[in-house]
Amino acid sequence: MSKRLMLRVNQNKCVGCGLCVENCPIGAITIYLNKARIDPKRCVGCENCLRVCPPQAIEKIGVNEKDSIRMELQNLRQRIDFLKTRLSRYEDMRKKA
Ligand code: SF4
Ligand code: SF4
Repeated sequence: MSKRLMLRVNQNKCVGCGLCVENCPIGAITIYLNKARIDPKRCVGCENCLRVCPPQAIEKIGVNEKDSIRMELQNLRQRIDFLKTRLSRYEDMRKKA
């Protein structure tokens, strides 16, 4: 099965400094709970983030189609959790208002 290269943030190494976010030309990186996440659908592979990351938390990995779908699902789950947290905070604020 053919593999393609993808970038992944090693969550144990990322210190949440945001340098990768500032240097991504297409806004493919977000910080969630003080850790960077790369949206593989948006990433164009310029490797700017890889070059600027102080602790070298961004890694190149070879993934097959199945792994790629699994990673996208994981990203979507994290995104859903993030949105649920925001929604719950918003509802709490509305109740207090
Ligand atoms: S490789 Fe380039 S496009 Fe992809 S996340 Fe890093 S900076 Fe953004
Ligand atoms: S530059 Fe590296 S350490 Fe800083 S937020 Fe991005 S991935 Fe994390």
